[in-house]
Amino acid sequence: SAIVADYRARTGGSAALFERARKVLPSGITHDARYLDPYSIHVGKAKGPRKWDVDGNEYVDYFGGHGAMLLGHSHPAVVEAVQRQMELGTHYGSSHELEVRWAELVCELTPCAEKVRFTASGTEASHMAIRLARAHTGKDKIVRFLGHFHGWHDNVTAGAGATYDGGTTPGVPQEVSALSIIMPSNDVAAVVKLIEERDDIAAVMFEPSGASWGQVPLPPGFIQAVRDATAKKGVVMLMDEVITGYRWSSGGAQKAFGITPDLCIQAKIVAGGLPGGAVSGKREILDRIDHAATAARKIERILHPGTYNANPLSAAAAVTALTLLRDEDLAEKANKTAAELRKALTEVLVQEGVPWGIYGQSSTFLIYPNPYGDPIDPASFDPLKVPIEKLKGARGAGPLTGKIRMGLMTHGVDVMGAPGGFVSATHGGAEIEKTVHALRQTVRALKA
Ligand code: PLP
Repeated sequence: SAIVADYRARTGGSAALFERARKVLPSGITHDARYLDPYSIHVGKAKGPRKWDVDGNEYVDYFGGHGAMLLGHSHPAVVEAVQRQMELGTHYGSSHELEVRWAELVCELTPCAEKVRFTASGTEASHMAIRLARAHTGKDKIVRFLGHFHGWHDNVTAGAGATYDGGTTPGVPQEVSALSIIMPSNDVAAVVKLIEERDDIAAVMFEPSGASWGQVPLPPGFIQAVRDATAKKGVVMLMDEVITGYRWSSGGAQKAFGITPDLCIQAKIVAGGLPGGAVSGKREILDRIDHAATAARKIERILHPGTYNANPLSAAAAVTALTLLRDEDLAEKANKTAAELRKALTEVLVQEGVPWGIYGQSSTFLIYPNPYGDPIDPASFDPLKVPIEKLKGARGAGPLTGKIRMGLMTHGVDVMGAPGGFVSATHGGAEIEKTVHALRQTVRALKA
């Protein structure tokens, strides 16, 4: 198509790199979400809300480091902090002051965090949180929800292609998959009933945004109902704030919604854009890793090594980023910009007569490209009225979403495959304008 031809014409350098990449990297990539047919762009530089590929094309960036870059790319204060730390050493194999400061900030900002343990990624935080919940309750089953993504370790992987919703995936023993109970998120009463009736549940784990940063939003009342039912039953409520942490508000979704979980995992923004994750929550649960507390209670301690846990570079970036986002309420700034962006993109659909929808919470936006051809009025689009299978089915690296991405890229905008993405505190009017133009040109090209 014209869109793919345009894309190829502008990205010869990326195509050449892809030819090298596919010889040494499966699919030529390093993260499933970066897959694009025929090939994805290779980026050489990023600053604030923009990035540049190796061919010199400039993009308004909504990939946002998979959601990590709330402060925008290469924030000067973060760059300075990391450079300073680089000189002082990148790994001491010892405790250090920045990790203490980092933990103090997490506990100050995050309502549930009485104590925190750092990991090297969100997947590791997810793995540890599940282990903590199981040890704490003495139960093994984890209740999760269709499409909710919690990293790629065995306890939370799934089947059905790119949907990560708790079936099986090659390499994961059936016995491990069977420890997950996967529920649809749209039947709150069924979830409450399940929690009330079963006695083998360690934790109920979910993204407070709804599946994959809000692609399938949660129905009203979901989180409070889960909070009430888990509290009554002594089940751990485990909120995955890897995306929402410090984005939905300066204290994450739990602060935005005023509902405090027992355990929470964070990654991405919590580490200031460098690798890192965190498990935080009730002291009583985190104490399962504590030497003195487990000795006093005469219980076996959970082991937790990890070479890069709270490494000085991530800690330096994190302390700087968390301080900035607290003092300047950067989550709120990004939220406002994203609300303007969603409104402006909706107007494009209305003006162009395209029966798609724009939605998203906080500083995210999503395009629902309606591959089913249903009658949709973009001006009143409500994702909660779209069946879950359709919302999910419109996602991923399919031909239509791939074309939307390439069309937007041709006009200088890079989004995630959803399609949609993350707005940073550095995005503003100029970025909105460019995105409006890109979407208009893309829908026109798709209609042609
Ligand atoms: N949980 C959620 C909600 C995520 O979005 C992600 C990553 O995108 C993870 C967990 C896993 O984090 P990581 O990629 O750092 O392992």
